Amino acid sequence: MNGRLADDCFALPPGVDWTPVEVALARLREGLRPVTGIETVGLSEAAGRVLAEPVLARRDSPPAANAAVDGYAFAWEAAGAEADLPLAEGRAAAGHPWPGHLPAGEALRILTGAELPAGADTVVLEEDCRLADGRVRFPRPRKPGANRRPQGEDARHGEPVLAAGRRLRPQDLARAASVGADRLAVRQRLRVGILSTGDELLAPGTDPAQPGIFDANRPMLAALAAGWGAEVVDLGAAGDDAGAVRAALDGGAASADVLLTSGGASAGDEDHLSRLLGREGRRETWRIAVKPGRPLAMGLWQGRPVFCLPGNPVAAFVCTLIFARPALAVLAGADWPEPLAFTVPAAFAKRKKRGRREYLRARLDAAGHAEVFASEGSGRVGGLSWSEGLVELPDAGMDIAPGDPVRYLPYAGFGI
Ligand code: AMP
Ligand code: MG
Repeated sequence: MNGRLADDCFALPPGVDWTPVEVALARLREGLRPVTGIETVGLSEAAGRVLAEPVLARRDSPPAANAAVDGYAFAWEAAGAEADLPLAEGRAAAGHPWPGHLPAGEALRILTGAELPAGADTVVLEEDCRLADGRVRFPRPRKPGANRRPQGEDARHGEPVLAAGRRLRPQDLARAASVGADRLAVRQRLRVGILSTGDELLAPGTDPAQPGIFDANRPMLAALAAGWGAEVVDLGAAGDDAGAVRAALDGGAASADVLLTSGGASAGDEDHLSRLLGREGRRETWRIAVKPGRPLAMGLWQGRPVFCLPGNPVAAFVCTLIFARPALAVLAGADWPEPLAFTVPAAFAKRKKRGRREYLRARLDAAGHAEVFASEGSGRVGGLSWSEGLVELPDAGMDIAPGDPVRYLPYAGFGI
């Protein structure tokens, strides 16, 4: 049962009815754990993967003190305030250390990145020097150690430089490489199954004259999951039929670690997904106080977590960003990601009801103020495409006037 979760991992404490967003997130955070195995990959394949073990420095970095500029190395103590030193024979360059011990009172030509020769502790910038007759003259830098990069200033041998749970970014690969790492222990990719449900759904390429709705959720959810480092398992679209939905869930449980479904999540006659999970799997329907959203059902099918997202593309998108994304991260072995948020002035006015959190499709105007899409209609996919982030309005009721501070969550902070 590798990667399958305990029955009550989504259960809310007894007595809790509608669920504030914060409570739902906290419950997810507590209930979930990584379900993916561990593999070893080379640095060139590690971008976007989740570290399973910390990366330890395999030596001091830099391994020896070196010059931060092109100039002349010398022993600070032995030079006067107006230094006038004879030049030693040769030079030190990156990859070509000077072999000797620099006598006190002499200077050596040195280039950026070259190891400081024994005996030298300071480098003077070449622009500050005058050369004549085999000697170099310069005003001595105020402190010893100027223009020197000390040994181990970036990392100490054995020190953890990257923690387990980090999703590796390009700069993290530089960090790992700089301390001598070669192969990294990472989590296997989380396999995310994506299923659409609804008799009205049309596959891409269907004659537009056909009645029905084009399936907008599946490509969107698949691209979100793939962008977060998952391996996407396309489970297709199932009609509003218990047998078809059951077969799709069975297939998903066999081929994926977690399922994202859309549609059929409420308690209506044709909401088979919700009913099946309730009867044959394990369902917790959280009436989350969020708009757009409606009930977000979560459950287990054969031990695999299932997120039943609303069918409306806008609600499916917002619920995926707010709830599924951090959940997928934890299942994938990564740290719980908090969305990036800025406080910016509103470019809109709105009267907001109390008792639920709201997410508005938004973007920043030229002045850096958040404007919101003209319609809050949950089916308006155009607004999703128009927007570059969400404005998050807190659970309390409020009247927002232009210029009031609001919380703006750029999509870039969600990695999209
Ligand atoms: P449901 O949650 O199944 O009641 O669906 C709510 C609304 O979302 C309905 O108008 C559906 O037609 C629409 N819908 C459901 N699934 C999709 C989908 N995959 N793509 C676009 N619209 C959808
Ligand atoms: Mg439906």
